[in-house]
Amino acid sequence: MHMCVTCGRRLKDSKSIDRGYGPVCYKKHLKALSDKEFEKKQLTIDEVMEKWHVRL
Ligand SMILES: [Zn+2]
Repeated sequence: MHMCVTCGRRLKDSKSIDRGYGPVCYKKHLKALSDKEFEKKQLTIDEVMEKWHVRL
């Protein structure tokens, strides 16, 4: 059984299972990560998402 690493909820779809996060927690996780990238490289969130091939 696959669980969200953040909240421990069960993951139902294969995308979430691949990520290890539920959709909501994944967005939060990305936001936190992109904020870090932002500080380092001054990328926009769109550039970060594109770089990671994020499709929400
Ligand atoms: Zn979660």
